[in-house]
Amino acid sequence: MAKQRVLITGGAGFLGSHLCDRFLKEGFHVIAMDNLITGDLRNIEHLFKNADFEFYHHDVSTFVHIPGELHYILHFASPASPIDYLKIPIQTLKVSSLGTHNLLGLARSKKARILVASTSEVYGDPLVHPQTEEYYGNVNPIGPRGVYDEAKRFQEAITMAYHTYHNLETRIIRIFNTYGPRMRLNDGRVLPAFIGQALRGEDLTVFGDGSQTRSFCYVDDEVDGIFRLLMSDYHLPVNIGNPDEITIGDFAEEIVKLTGTKQKVVYKPLPQDDPKQRQPNITKAKELLGWSPKVSRAEGLKITYEYFKSLPQEVLFQRDHKDFQRYVR
Ligand code: NAD
Ligand code: UDP
Repeated sequence: MAKQRVLITGGAGFLGSHLCDRFLKEGFHVIAMDNLITGDLRNIEHLFKNADFEFYHHDVSTFVHIPGELHYILHFASPASPIDYLKIPIQTLKVSSLGTHNLLGLARSKKARILVASTSEVYGDPLVHPQTEEYYGNVNPIGPRGVYDEAKRFQEAITMAYHTYHNLETRIIRIFNTYGPRMRLNDGRVLPAFIGQALRGEDLTVFGDGSQTRSFCYVDDEVDGIFRLLMSDYHLPVNIGNPDEITIGDFAEEIVKLTGTKQKVVYKPLPQDDPKQRQPNITKAKELLGWSPKVSRAEGLKITYEYFKSLPQEVLFQRDHKDFQRYVR
């Protein structure tokens, strides 16, 4: 029997590349699509020898064409770090609006099921804690995070509209902070920032007083939640994340212990609209998907630290190897 074919947008990124691995392991034919704006071919170079893997270098905010059959689409293309989406705000708005529209159209024409990657950022700076899927959020549309948050909220709206008006099979996942190997060392997210600083012998920069919280999920757990949701029959949004919440100040101390760095923790101004607290309520994921995270932060951080330690020195000292200007239109 011919293999089922899945399109993974953002396939050369952190989460997308792990999804490519997982779907190949599950016996799918995988088509990864990416314009490499924040991703890296090194994340998927081990897959090019696999006859069941294809790569399309393409910007999904423009018309998307895939020849042949398609059974599933996972839309993961989008800058995901606050530093990235501040540098490329228009692309960020486009990929989750125009890009999502293109992929919904493709799903419709192929009669494929589509899962879109939404985010805990749809809750903004949340006034309800922990965050349940029923909470509508507290988002500043015109603040620096608005380009990401509002594009993701639009993405959910248009996905629901295609479900309702076109009977499309849709899935919406709300991903909470996820980490692991293949994150870009210099993308500005807190975990690569702290580990990079420790490896370079720099002080660790905590923004604000460090009392803001996050809840970090290891990538293998997240990918398993994504897979289960795609295969389920549930079309409303589902939170997937690890509820083990920690303040950023305590997290910095954990990284100091893990890396054995002799450097200090220093405090920098808190960016505008930085959420004060974030923890997923995962009751739905547990009940509907039988999913809960398995990897503790201690285990996940150890694996991730080993990965960052194994990177070449020049990557460690590159401030940011991304030439965003090349992509700006
Ligand atoms: P990432 O930056 O590593 O991956 C995103 C990928 O999308 C990159 O390879 C990038 O080149 C590609 N891309 C961006 N715009 C594109 C376009 N217009 N056309 C084609 N490709 C494009 O980030 P990530 O952490 O892997 O995030 C992947 C998805 O998961 C994003 O949609 C993000 O919003 C979502 N998400 C991630 C997290 C997290 O903690 N990692 C949390 C919430 C949501
Ligand atoms: N942060 C920090 N130091 C850094 C980078 C980030 O203290 O060098 C903080 C940031 O202000 C936020 C948290 O860490 O409160 C998580 O930031 P990240 O950019 O990883 O993602 P967010 O969850 O804010 O989207």
